Amino acid sequence: MKASSAAPQGYYAASSETPALRGALNSDMRADICVIGGGFTGLTAALHLARAGARVILLEAETVGFAASGRNGGQIHTGYRMSQPGLEKWLGRVHAHDLWDLCEESKALVRALAAELAPEANVTDGLIIAAHDRAALRELGEEIEHLSKHYSYSAARMIDANETHRLIGADYFGGKLDMGGGHLHPLRYARGLARGAETAGATILEHSRARSIETSGKKNIVYGESGKVTADFVLLATDAFSADLAPELAPYIGHVESFMSATAPLPPALGEQILPMNAAVADTRHVLDYYRKSDDGRLLFAGREGYWNLPADIAPIVRRRMLQVFPMLKSVPTEYAWSGTVGITVTRLPHFGRLSPRVLFAHGYSGQGVALTSIGGKLMAEAALGNSGRFDVMARVPAKKFPGGPWLRKPLVAAALFAFKIADAF
Ligand SMILES: Cc1cc2nc3c(=O)[nH]c(=O)nc-3n(C[C@H](O)[C@H](O)[C@H](O)COP(=O)(O)OP(=O)(O)OC[C@H]3O[C@@H](n4cnc5c(N)ncnc54)[C@H](O)[C@@H]3O)c2cc1C
Repeated sequence: MKASSAAPQGYYAASSETPALRGALNSDMRADICVIGGGFTGLTAALHLARAGARVILLEAETVGFAASGRNGGQIHTGYRMSQPGLEKWLGRVHAHDLWDLCEESKALVRALAAELAPEANVTDGLIIAAHDRAALRELGEEIEHLSKHYSYSAARMIDANETHRLIGADYFGGKLDMGGGHLHPLRYARGLARGAETAGATILEHSRARSIETSGKKNIVYGESGKVTADFVLLATDAFSADLAPELAPYIGHVESFMSATAPLPPALGEQILPMNAAVADTRHVLDYYRKSDDGRLLFAGREGYWNLPADIAPIVRRRMLQVFPMLKSVPTEYAWSGTVGITVTRLPHFGRLSPRVLFAHGYSGQGVALTSIGGKLMAEAALGNSGRFDVMARVPAKKFPGGPWLRKPLVAAALFAFKIADAF
């Protein structure tokens, strides 16, 4: 093992160029907009704002891409964790269609931003949703039909068990091949967004944790450890960690620790057998397996998660699962293992809103943030620039609270998620 993580982003840090050191917040500064969080959401917001001519200061507690945005599976998904028919039933057709349009825009935006600012993130088209049982296969078929009929979405098609086996190298009941989905190298993308935002004039300060936000009239003051930023607007883009700064958000955001690993580069014969068309894969289980190949021919596999205490060594846990799916990898070592915190909501839809009229938040992408964060950042930027119409399309999605008060919430959420894991076994 090259490390159960020399850097918390595991393989992604080892395969990215190290950026130059950035400054920290150590004085009193003034900005039009202060963005908190240097993941995809905050970086995309800063980029759009700076390009629109706003004075932007972004505060990142660690370094750009330190959390989920630098550690994730890199998978670009179509739609939301709730199906479009489900959304239509819950929110009505008009709202569901608006949400669909935003998601499609987010996928196009990721591709455009990566092509412009981070071509080294190697965006690759193709995502297979692999059915782990017949019921899931049937649902995938119904979804494709619905999307084709009501949303004119034609980039996805069903694949039978044989074709699925040929495209993946592992057995499933069949699946959906979505050429509108895809995958990328997330840390390279995050760093490219940061470079783009800085080129446009944004100031990004690292090792600059925001400790509190104070609102007085039309001014907001973000206090750090050794300085503060006074700004007209504050955009909270801290995803799973939002409640640290805004305790009122705690009931709305749950945490799952997702475990990832990277093998050594696959020998050529295995490289041809596993994912020959280089699509990414996510299966239909509650505690899903998701995986893809890296551009240097490794299998990046994620397949287990934790809800409470992190195990000391996650590599054997993910490896055990990987070998159940790909037994032929027995002789290929796991070289990296790492984990990251996924911010999830009860509805599995992102949660956008306002803490006060000029303090906005966007979090809880529930495992689908690689694409959706790009629209999250863009909509927050639009709202801060005076056009909140599209931000409110997201903010109007009703948020639900996780059960339990401050003490019981975490064990209850952990128990519920663990129950899903058990359900997968049957
Ligand atoms: C292991 C893993 C695998 C995933 N796989 C996928 C996938 O394949 N496809 C997909 O679509 N989604 C996936 N996700 C989800 C996706 O990564 C996230 O939805 C997305 O990255 C969230 O981006 P963000 O910018 O909102 O938050 P983050 O990337 O979490 O960024 C928030 C930033 O805020 C900083 N911060 C926190 N508190 C403060 C503070 N007080 N002051 C200053 N800064 C602060 C953090 O250090 C962090 O850098 C995965 C997530 C994980 C963890």
